Amino acid sequence: MKITKFYLLILLFFITGCSQDTAIPSATAEVYAMDTVMNLTAYGDNAQVAIDQAEADLLALEAQISRTREGSEIYLLNQTGTSTLSDTAVELLRRSINYGALTGGAFSCTIAPVMDVWGFTTDTMAVPSEAVLSQAMALVDDTGVVIDGNAVTLGAGQAIDLGGIGKGYAAQLVADIFTAQNISNAMVSLGGNVYVLGGRTDGDPWRIGVQDPNNLSGYAGVLSMYTGFAVTSGGYQRFFEENGVTYHHIIDPSTGYSANAGLLSVTIVSPDDGTLCDALSTALYVMGEEAAIAFWRSGVVPFEMILLTEDGRAVVSSGLHDTFIAEEGYIYDPIS
Ligand code: AMP
Ligand code: MG
Repeated sequence: MKITKFYLLILLFFITGCSQDTAIPSATAEVYAMDTVMNLTAYGDNAQVAIDQAEADLLALEAQISRTREGSEIYLLNQTGTSTLSDTAVELLRRSINYGALTGGAFSCTIAPVMDVWGFTTDTMAVPSEAVLSQAMALVDDTGVVIDGNAVTLGAGQAIDLGGIGKGYAAQLVADIFTAQNISNAMVSLGGNVYVLGGRTDGDPWRIGVQDPNNLSGYAGVLSMYTGFAVTSGGYQRFFEENGVTYHHIIDPSTGYSANAGLLSVTIVSPDDGTLCDALSTALYVMGEEAAIAFWRSGVVPFEMILLTEDGRAVVSSGLHDTFIAEEGYIYDPIS
C-alpha cells in the first residue's frame, strides 16, 4: 500500500503591481507557525514594531492552542479531559461549538479523534478500518464539552481540534495589533487565511488571488479588497492517495470520511471577523453548495462567499459581485 502525501502551503496569494509607495516605512516577516507558512507585510511608521509583535503573538498563540504541541493548553486538556483554559482558548472553544450548532454539525471541534485515526495529526496518513473509525466517531459530539467559566471538561475519550478555526483567529489577532500600531496598509496570509488593510499604498485595492484547485500554480479568480478577511478551505490543501482514491483533511462529522459535497473550495469574506471566516470556510465546504447558499441567504451570520464547484462554476454571493472576477475556466455564477 503506497501512501503519497502533499503539502501545499501557499493557498492564496497576492498579485502585486510595481507602483507601491516606497516612501512609507514597511516591514515584512515570514513565520512558520500552526503548521503553515505565514507572510506578513505592514506599512506605517510603526511597521517594524507591529510586525515584531505580530510574530511573537502568533508563536504564543500556537503554543496555547496547538493540540500537537506538548504542554499547550489544548494538549493538556486533551490529555487530562479537564482543565482551566485562558480566555483566548475558551473563546475559541465557545465559538467553535456555536458554529457547529449554527451549521447543523458541519463544523465540529470534537473531530480530533477522527483526525487522529486518519493520521492527519501524525503525518502518516492512511484509511482507518471501519471499526477504528466508528470508535473514533463515537467521540465526536460537541455536547460532551462542558464549559463553566474558564473551566472545561470533556466527555470520556474526547479531544479538541481547533485547526479549523485557529488561523482565522490568528489573522484577527494580527489585525488588532496593526490597528493599535496605526498601520496604514497591510497584507497578511496565514496559510490561506488572508487579512488586508487599507488597500495598496498607491490607493488601489489589494488583489487577492483565489487558488485554482485544478491547477495549483494558477488562480481561479481575483478578489479586490481594501480591508477585510478572506479565508479559503479546500480538500486540495492537504490530502493523500490510497489505492487510487484521494482522501483529504476536511472531515464530514456525519460520516467520518473526507467531505465530498461537490465543492473544490470555499472562500469566505468578512470585513471584520477572521475567526468567522475560518470556521465557515471549513463548515460550508462540508455542507456543499445548496446548504451553503441556504445558510448564506438565512443571514444568521453576515458574510460573503465564493464557492468553486466540481462542475466548474464560481458561485459568488451578492456582496462580491463587483469585487471578484473569475478567470477563464470557471463560469461566473452570481447568487443573491
Ligand atoms: P481548514 O483548513 O480551516 O478548512 O481546517 C481544516 C482543519 O480543521 C483540519 O486540518 C482539522 O484540523 C480540522 N477539521 C477537519 N474537519 C473539520 C470539521 N468538520 N469541523 C471542524 N474542524 C475540522
Ligand atoms: Mg477553517
